[in-house]
Amino acid sequence: MTEPNKRCGFIAILGAPNVGKSTLLNQFVGLKISIVSPKVQTTRARILGICQKGDAQLIFIDTPGIFVPRRRLDRAMVAAAWGGAGDADHIILLVDAARGMDSNTRSIVERLREKRGRADLILNKVDLVDKSKLLSLATEFSETGLFEEIFMVSAERGDGVTDILDHLSTKMKTGPWLFPEDQISDMSERILAAEVTREKLFLQLHKELPYAAAVETESWQEQADGSTRIEQIIYVQRDSQKAIVLGRKGSRIKSIGADARVDLEEMLGHRVHLFLFVKVREKWDDDPDRYRDLGLDFNA
Ligand code: GDP
Ligand code: MG
Repeated sequence: MTEPNKRCGFIAILGAPNVGKSTLLNQFVGLKISIVSPKVQTTRARILGICQKGDAQLIFIDTPGIFVPRRRLDRAMVAAAWGGAGDADHIILLVDAARGMDSNTRSIVERLREKRGRADLILNKVDLVDKSKLLSLATEFSETGLFEEIFMVSAERGDGVTDILDHLSTKMKTGPWLFPEDQISDMSERILAAEVTREKLFLQLHKELPYAAAVETESWQEQADGSTRIEQIIYVQRDSQKAIVLGRKGSRIKSIGADARVDLEEMLGHRVHLFLFVKVREKWDDDPDRYRDLGLDFNA
C-alpha cells in the first residue's frame, strides 16, 4: 500500500435529481469496483463507492440533492452538498441529456462558477437524444468554460463508462490508498456494523461515557442457516468505563447489543447473532490505523 506509484482521491458527483448518478455509480461498481459503503463518513459527504483502476483508487462521494433550494431544509442540504464538493479532489457534473440545461443544472453550473471552477461534464442518457441535439448541448456547456472534459454516456447501457474511469484514474494525485484493495466490501460492512453498535452505546450511555470509546468488528461469519455471527469489541480507556458499559450484572451491554442487533438485522436483511466484549485499551486513540480504518485523517 505504500508503493510510490499509487494514486488516490475523492471524486464528488454533482447533478440534479434523476440524472442517473446512482445508475452510473452502479456501472462503476459493476465494472471494477470493490463496493459501496453506505454510511462511512468523510467530514461531510457519504462515500458511495470505491473503485480500483490500475494504480489509482477512486473514492466517489455523494452530494445529496443539489437542486434549487426553496425552504430552509433545502438550503441546508444544498450547503452540505457543496461542502462535500469542497472536500473532493475532483468534481464531475452529471447532466440528463434529454433534459439539458434545466433550472437545477443551471443553478449548479452557476455555483460551480462562483465556487471553485473546474469539473468534468458527463452527458448521460445519450440513448434518448439524437446526435445533433447532443452536440449543441455539449457546445452550450463547453461555452461556460468550466469543463475540462466532456463525456457522453448511457449509464443504463454502460456505454462510455470505462472511458470515464480511465480518465478519472489519471486525475488522482500520488498517495497511498485509503482503503485496502481486496477487503473493501467486507471492511465496509464491518465498519458499518461497528458504527451501529457505537451509536447504541452513545444513545444508551450519554455523558456517562467519555467520547473515547471505540467499537471494532472482530469477526464476521456467514452461517449455514443464512444468519451472520458477528463479534465486536468495545474499547474503553479505563476499568471504571468498562464497568459502566457492562452495567449491573451485564444488563447495560445486553441492552446495547439487543438494540444494535435489531438495526444490524434490518441492514443485512437476515438474522444476526451479535456478541459484544468490552476491553480496556488505554491508547487506542493514538493509533493511526484506527483512524485509517474509519476513513478519518489522523493528522486533521
Ligand atoms: P439519480 O437520482 O441521479 O441517482 O438518478 P438514477 O440513477 O436513480 O436514475 C434516474 C432514472 O434515469 C432511472 O429511471 C434510471 O433508470 C434512468 N437512467 C439512468 N441512466 C440512464 C440512461 O443512460 N438512459 C436512460 N434512458 N435512462 C437512464
Ligand atoms: Mg440516486
